[in-house]
Amino acid sequence: MTQVPKHHRADGRFQNNYLEFEPRSFAEVLRWKWNAARKGLPKPPSTPIPSVRADLAFIRANAESERQQPAVTWIGHATVLAQLGGLNVLTDPIFSERASPVQFVGPKRHQPPGLSLAELPSIDLVLVSHNHYDHMDEGSLCGLAKQAGGSPWFVVPLGLAGWFQHRGIERVIELDWWQSHRMQCTGGEVELMLVPAQHWSARGTSDRMKTLWGGFAILAPDCHLFFAGDTGYSRDFSDIRQRFAGRQGAAEGGGFDIALIPIGAYEPRWFMTEQHVNVEEALKIHRDLGAKRSLGVHWGTFELTDEPLDEPPRQLAEQRAALGLAEGEFFSLAIGQTQVLTPRGKRG
Ligand code: ZN
Ligand code: ZN
Repeated sequence: MTQVPKHHRADGRFQNNYLEFEPRSFAEVLRWKWNAARKGLPKPPSTPIPSVRADLAFIRANAESERQQPAVTWIGHATVLAQLGGLNVLTDPIFSERASPVQFVGPKRHQPPGLSLAELPSIDLVLVSHNHYDHMDEGSLCGLAKQAGGSPWFVVPLGLAGWFQHRGIERVIELDWWQSHRMQCTGGEVELMLVPAQHWSARGTSDRMKTLWGGFAILAPDCHLFFAGDTGYSRDFSDIRQRFAGRQGAAEGGGFDIALIPIGAYEPRWFMTEQHVNVEEALKIHRDLGAKRSLGVHWGTFELTDEPLDEPPRQLAEQRAALGLAEGEFFSLAIGQTQVLTPRGKRG
């Protein structure tokens, strides 16, 4: 008899590895929103969210696989264009005005995306971490499926392929935690794995935890990338490090070259701790993974929680200094900005 993994529950829903998560009740949501309104939270940002004109010439030249340098461009929220292994990969694409089932109500975008859908290079792979509206945006995903040259592949956690197929998107790969998909790329093979995260899923009130959530690891010859999706802090990140230890030793080029870790949407803690890390916990994830460098994402774009939109990178700078970490080790970017990475080297 094959053993059913622990995160598959008997009722067909999913569960976290280290926390029996129950989505917050309506009464608790009301308590949060009532308190926030009483205190006037979130306070408006005191500084503009940094944003730059994207270096389209570089991004497009770098999209051609032959001489590609590994690079990440922050488009906003959890949307990152990652160029590695000769591929152009997009994480949790949201280009819409609102993170909502409808475009007339719901969290509104505070800054335009760093690149528009039309400005993107041809995308090979789209990673979708879970079905919350700020991560799985119908307009953006359907737009990408219609890109010139053909649809990218969409890689999604268990239970989400049907949503894509229902919208005429056929190139979908569904993965369980620790399941991999391999594809050929420049210089060899890219492995793509869905890894655990401590979070949940729902698009309405009756589908809670019915589809899986997670993060992704991409192992390409020139770069190992980790994308956390949305997550609370848990032992999952030490597990992930262990899982890859045999392929990330010093002789193999070390740990993840870049980790995309959320640093925003953390207040109030009584409500958010189980599902969203704060900056201190994001730094712990960076350490637990043994990542060489991390980029803070999931901030500055949609006002989802009680902290000011511009607070996460300030906290990151303070806490990084307190830990004695160099700025480049866990950094934030301006929206639209690209960070070129050192290609992964093998020793010996
Ligand atoms: Zn979420
Ligand atoms: Zn989110």
